[in-house]
Amino acid sequence: MSRFADIVLPLAQPAYTFAVGEGVQVRVGDAVAVQFGKNAVYTGVVWRLHDTPPAKGTAKPILKVLYDKPLLSELQMRFWEWVADYYICSVGEVMRVALPSIIKAKARCEEEFSEYTPKREVVVLLVAEAFTEDVREKMMRRAPKRYEALCAIENAGGVLPRHLVELDAAALKALCKAGLVEMGERDYKLNSEWSKTLLPKLSDAQSKALKEIRNGLSDKRVALLHGVTSSGKTEIYTHLIEERLSRGEDVLFLVPEISLTTQLVERMRGLFGESVTVYHSKLTPNQRTKLYTDMLSSESGNFVIGARSALFLPYKKLGLVVVDEEHDSSYKQTEPNPRYNGRDAAIMLATLHNAKCVLGSATPSLESFANYLSGKYGYTRLTERYGGVEMPEIVISDTVRNVKRNERKLHFNKELLDGIAERLENNEQVILFQNRRGYSPYMECPSCGWSARCPHCNVTLSAHQQKGRMICHYCGYNEPIQHYCPNCKTGELRPMGFGTERVEEAVAELFPEARVLRLDGDTATSSAAYNRIIGAFARHEADILVGTQIVSKGLDFADVTLIGILNGDNLLASPDFRAEERAWQMIMQVAGRSGRRDKRGEVVVQTAEPTHSIYATIGDYDGVATKLLAERKQFGYPPFVRIVKVTMRSTNQKLLVDASLQLGEQLRNRFGRRVLGPVSPLIDRVRGEWRVELMLKVEVESSFAKARAILRDEIALLRTTKEFRNITIICDVDIL
Ligand code: ADP
Ligand code: ZN
Ligand code: ZN
Repeated sequence: MSRFADIVLPLAQPAYTFAVGEGVQVRVGDAVAVQFGKNAVYTGVVWRLHDTPPAKGTAKPILKVLYDKPLLSELQMRFWEWVADYYICSVGEVMRVALPSIIKAKARCEEEFSEYTPKREVVVLLVAEAFTEDVREKMMRRAPKRYEALCAIENAGGVLPRHLVELDAAALKALCKAGLVEMGERDYKLNSEWSKTLLPKLSDAQSKALKEIRNGLSDKRVALLHGVTSSGKTEIYTHLIEERLSRGEDVLFLVPEISLTTQLVERMRGLFGESVTVYHSKLTPNQRTKLYTDMLSSESGNFVIGARSALFLPYKKLGLVVVDEEHDSSYKQTEPNPRYNGRDAAIMLATLHNAKCVLGSATPSLESFANYLSGKYGYTRLTERYGGVEMPEIVISDTVRNVKRNERKLHFNKELLDGIAERLENNEQVILFQNRRGYSPYMECPSCGWSARCPHCNVTLSAHQQKGRMICHYCGYNEPIQHYCPNCKTGELRPMGFGTERVEEAVAELFPEARVLRLDGDTATSSAAYNRIIGAFARHEADILVGTQIVSKGLDFADVTLIGILNGDNLLASPDFRAEERAWQMIMQVAGRSGRRDKRGEVVVQTAEPTHSIYATIGDYDGVATKLLAERKQFGYPPFVRIVKVTMRSTNQKLLVDASLQLGEQLRNRFGRRVLGPVSPLIDRVRGEWRVELMLKVEVESSFAKARAILRDEIALLRTTKEFRNITIICDVDIL
């Protein structure tokens, strides 16, 4: 028996050595309770067993071995190590995102520490017989909130976990008393059994694509399915999924944002029944933990639909990972560590399991497209929508010309105004897209130029009229909207620019008869609120939907025939090297939401710069991709180099500047001209902390592993200077 164990704790620190007591049975991958620091007992994971005592001090003993089997398999440990190494953080930081919170319990002392035991879940059941037409009618008018809650339970099949019912205890009690609902308890049980199902019959184009994917996967790890929106990519996935499940293998279906998957999960449940498991951060800690432990003790053959954190579940034999909407930037965790990209980590996970990976998108990322061009990925293309629906016409509307001709009214050009009027006339629907929430991004004084700014961040405050407040979109600081300039005391503050709230107001003024809904971070505050808005629009209870990028994702509305992009310019305005790729993907994604079998859709893009090269070739994927790739190559950007952004943060600006200059010099000594900066980012102060950035560019031909190791060493060296120790240093690998 080994005498010592290196144990990973959920901290930004390396593994620590603990002593294995006499008679204690412990295996690699086991969860254990250990004392760390004066007042903390943590759950840790045994990483290595050995006989070497620690160099300094004596090793504390393991307090307790938890659970009856290891929490991690050998393979999961390799995966955590890869994430930590590639994204330059500690394995402990990976542990933080990888394990559900309850399973990694923490306490102040040994007595208070308790191991997770599965709890039954409280659920609310609808009494269908009592929810009659009469009752519905009355409730709709008198108690709309309760009515909506009951509808939500009904839509979920008559039962919902308590925490997903958006009612307070009193309202729920009243509904119980009225005999409309009952409270109950139930076990969530992972059920990986499924019977052979009837899959949709594929069209000729789809069958051909399926065959090409299979061919590609016969000798390659990854295949890219490049299919326009509504070409039936999902149908193709289902065939690949069934194949794997019927062999008893696990399947993981990754989606960028779980709130957007209701339609997808329903479709998959329709085909694969209860074997479909959904895993994401909106589940309760108890549910997540139960899923994790259930899966630990189940055989393989699980089908998981999940957000990126589902990569860390204990798969036994993963056969296939599907990454849907692979271009989506929300696959990347921006905060905190590990700042990993779910798509790229999925490919690594598939490699470890010797599984296959399918990436799907209507607008593949330049990275994935380049991997196809170089022969690394298999590739297949679907250029037509299922059922012969035509791709929409894209109209570029010149804002400057509209202003000159006096044809622009309240942020709307004539092309869009006419288009909306026509759709309202025909009882069709319209989506209006503006990528800013709130009323206006800033308020300015016309006499002295003053504008309200956040006291903690170097940004202007956005006006939110409904809330009556000016809000910082970086830290949440807010104050009442002021009407007169506090600087010169005479000017009347004017809203500058416009967000979704102001678009909604303008629509009400221009088209008073239209019914309008708004979908953005202020209205879709929960997934229930999101579903409510989407549901109402899908049932055609509104004519116009105004929204931020959230409207561009995964939605399918039969009656939408016009999409307006109110300001194409601010999509392109950001100074980062991906601005053009993003704007283009965004427009194409939004465009994919319009049109139907009998009627071609239309997309109107308003811009002050209609001659921008992006618009000339917008519908021609290969053309735009080739042009952008050539530019990336010429100027040294991904996928031709790998970029690590090093952000340094501190409340002490002077110290920060000194430290960043020193790190810059150290890195330049090792990497030469591959180092850029230090520079101040556009927003150089957030939450009271100053920020400085350094950029490291490594050619794909050189060893990235070596570069990362050097970077780690140099940062560690900087930290040996005492006064720099409190500066926060963050590495972001493969920035998006
Ligand atoms: P994508 O994932 O490429 O955006 P979907 O798979 O959502 O496209 O397909 C778009 C629509 O066409 C859906 O309503 C889907 O049910 C329908 N569809 C696609 N392929 C088929 C098929 N082979 N049989 C029946 N319906 C199909
Ligand atoms: Zn003023
Ligand atoms: Zn702020």
